[in-house]
Amino acid sequence: MSENENVVVSRNFIEQIIDKDLAEGVYDTVHTRFPPEPNGYLHIGHAKSILLNYGLAKQYGGKFNMRFDDTNPTKEKIEFVESIKKDIAWLGADWEDRLFFASDYFGEMYEGAVKLIKKGKAYVSDLTADEIREYRGSLTEPGKEDPYSTRSIEENLRLFEEMKEGKYEDGTKVLRARIDMASPNINMRDPVIYRVAHMTHHNTGDQWCIYPMYDFAHPIEDAIEGITHSICTLEFEDHRPLYDWVVRELEYPNPPKQIEFAKLYLTNVVTGKRYIKKLVEEGIVDGWDDPRLVSIAALRRRGFTPESIKLFVELCGISKSNSSVDYAMLEYCIREDLKLKAPRMMAVLDPVKLVIDNYPEEESELLELPNNLENEALGSRKVPFGKELYIEREDFMEEPPKKYFRMFPGNEVRLMNAYFVKCTGCVKDENGKVMEVHCTYDPASKGGNSPDGRKVKGTIHWVPAKEAVKVETRLYENIIDEEKGVYNEDGSLNLNPNSLTVLTESVVEPALADAKAYENFQFVRNGFFCVDYKDSKEGAPVFNRIVSLKSSFVLPKKD
Ligand code: ATP
Ligand code: MG
Repeated sequence: MSENENVVVSRNFIEQIIDKDLAEGVYDTVHTRFPPEPNGYLHIGHAKSILLNYGLAKQYGGKFNMRFDDTNPTKEKIEFVESIKKDIAWLGADWEDRLFFASDYFGEMYEGAVKLIKKGKAYVSDLTADEIREYRGSLTEPGKEDPYSTRSIEENLRLFEEMKEGKYEDGTKVLRARIDMASPNINMRDPVIYRVAHMTHHNTGDQWCIYPMYDFAHPIEDAIEGITHSICTLEFEDHRPLYDWVVRELEYPNPPKQIEFAKLYLTNVVTGKRYIKKLVEEGIVDGWDDPRLVSIAALRRRGFTPESIKLFVELCGISKSNSSVDYAMLEYCIREDLKLKAPRMMAVLDPVKLVIDNYPEEESELLELPNNLENEALGSRKVPFGKELYIEREDFMEEPPKKYFRMFPGNEVRLMNAYFVKCTGCVKDENGKVMEVHCTYDPASKGGNSPDGRKVKGTIHWVPAKEAVKVETRLYENIIDEEKGVYNEDGSLNLNPNSLTVLTESVVEPALADAKAYENFQFVRNGFFCVDYKDSKEGAPVFNRIVSLKSSFVLPKKD
């Protein structure tokens, strides 16, 4: 089946809605948006929403807006505005010149509220927040009429204006939409649409002391921008009647339509802002972009690429029911993306010296090695080879168990792309720690090829000792102890004490000395690594392991 046919058969439910809208002339274009609240860093779940909204706009030749939903001044920060913009641009979602702030529409929202009052569709109430909750009823009981709902239009207009002018204390007055206190949908029981809050806003300063509620503001923002399909997550499904009510009562021509889809959850992975904030504050992680987290900034720092995240989001699909995806799928996606793109180099994470006793003392040679056997376009590089090398400590055992095919006394192995070597023994310190492994090489096996058809079972990688560049490598595990689950009984996180391993004695081939921040490599046998942007120094890169090479993940078959 060609890719095109595949797209047609697997059209997701949102595409089906859009197709129908376009066919029936409900809209003649597609205009989507991504509306984050600037109150934290974006995470992998947001990436799904961003790529979905942007992808639909592109697919239908429409437009995509970036809009900060900054109607709640308490939690919002400029720092987050900047990080969010950076993350979205990195993912490749292009808002062109359409970067908006909900706070730019406060004037229009105020006018909208006045319009509702004039239509008799909104009133000022003096009930306290607790009283409003009490009057609202429950799922089984209808609500009670607000005693202030009988105020005249004139009185409501005057009071609302006075609210705006700062005459009232926070919490003493609200504006409520007049809908239906007996509605089976609690969201429709005269919801609060404006509140008094004497707060400084990061964009509008002290211009306003009344702020619109999300359910009132959001449809207006969409309508003003000419959004056609306002895509949000499932928890807003019960708010959709209110969304529709607002755009209808405010008489927007061609009003937007809200569509809900299921959030993306990763199994055993923490995404909640509250938890991550705590980890940051307690110094358990190194900021919001600690490579063990799944904020977009953290994934970028760890070495994930925008392409790998796109692939991941595509594989997850769009659905109406909540489910949770395994982190292994994300790992699968980065392996897929990097396997041909990343140069394959040699790094020894935990080195021990290997001495080739019969290799001439002063001699050294340059071996030309391909950068990626499966992708010739990546070219080749020269790696020095000499009498002394480094190999992984775990690639030597004095007394090997069964099926151990690497270095042990008497065994012959291949040094990757170099020579066959036969282990002759080792030198230990007074504590029995292996300090040097010794071997002899077969000059006829150059290139790692068997000179006479004899076979070796093990191939190990190496780094030339003299030219080796000492670097720091960092290996990660889930920050959560998966065996025990994410949360402890008291609601705290179940942390894995081994989530970070720092190796300060790792060595890499000289070609890696100048690796730049965010450059990705495959270190043969050890995994994919990325140069840490924060802690690398000129000539001394720090390498974060993105993922190991082995995978337990099997791509689910599509039916
Ligand atoms: P969180 O509480 O998880 O940080 P949020 O919903 O408070 O997320 P917003 O800034 O309000 O964050 O979200 C911006 C957009 O991203 C919304 O349209 C929201 O529906 C969407 N979104 C948030 N979390 C996810 C998720 N896990 N999967 C898919 N979309 C999400
Ligand atoms: Mg939110």
